Amino acid sequence: MACRLLYFYNETEVSIHGDDYELQSTVFTWQISVNSSTHLWNAFNLLGWTWRQQAAVVNKPVDRDAWITHPTIVNAFYYPSMNSITIPAGILQSPFYEKGRLAAMNYGGIGMVIGHEITHGFDNSGRLYDARGNLVNWWTPKTAETFKEKAQCFVDQYSGYEVPELSGMEERFVNGTLTLGENIADNGGVEEALLAFFNYIDRNGAEPSLPGLDFLTSEQLFFVTFAYNWCGHSTKEYLQNQILYDPHSPANFRVRGSLSNSAAFAKAFGCRADQPMVRGNDSCILWGPDESGGSVPSSMRLGYYFVSLWLLLRLGQWNFP
Ligand SMILES: [Zn+2]
Repeated sequence: MACRLLYFYNETEVSIHGDDYELQSTVFTWQISVNSSTHLWNAFNLLGWTWRQQAAVVNKPVDRDAWITHPTIVNAFYYPSMNSITIPAGILQSPFYEKGRLAAMNYGGIGMVIGHEITHGFDNSGRLYDARGNLVNWWTPKTAETFKEKAQCFVDQYSGYEVPELSGMEERFVNGTLTLGENIADNGGVEEALLAFFNYIDRNGAEPSLPGLDFLTSEQLFFVTFAYNWCGHSTKEYLQNQILYDPHSPANFRVRGSLSNSAAFAKAFGCRADQPMVRGNDSCILWGPDESGGSVPSSMRLGYYFVSLWLLLRLGQWNFP
């Protein structure tokens, strides 16, 4: 328990006095009782401590260096009010990242996650905040209108997904409106990471194949790793709760939704136009190469290339294989 508390807040210190813990942060000290026989009160006490932490910084200058989560968390975050992304140390491990393995896997893993978080800055919520995290409109009316049209494509696509485990139930379809921001981030993230991977290949040359999976090309391995990130198993109750309240689509639709929109995926696996994972002309594209030849506002292209460049530079700094 103490280990978890240690990372409860950036720079939080914990002293142990018998069954009680004292949490001391940069903001204030608060005696908290945590012990093995009062689980519910432990939860209340920790929640209270968290809320007091947040309330204590109201009307204070923004601390742009504050961590918004613990380093042990296996997750990643975009924070619109800061226009920042946070990649905790906890996610820098398999299946997302592993030093020394093929770059195709790291770009399909943590590369996609980083692209996902950056793209949140350009989703239906993130786009409303400017570079400093202020709620300011910085888009032209034409760009905003085009964005809404293209975003509606994702709403319609994902709303059509029926969760097989919930077959026959009243609530069984993904809510394309609730999950819009995450779906935009998923679709943009995987395309941006792929472009960054291609740039890596241009600079470093082609990669060897993966022993045991040497029938896969590098591009195929990239997409397989992306899909592998979302492997999992959920109860029916979890899925019910997820489609009603969670802004993330169920894991299999995060894969099917993104990759069926991707011309690069169809090309990598040689899919025919009539196959289920190819949406072809119905593909939804917001932040990615405009395969259809249609017009994409220049500000959107700029955002896309900026994200790709950023990914490339960051992955290079982290000394990926
Ligand atoms: Zn997200």
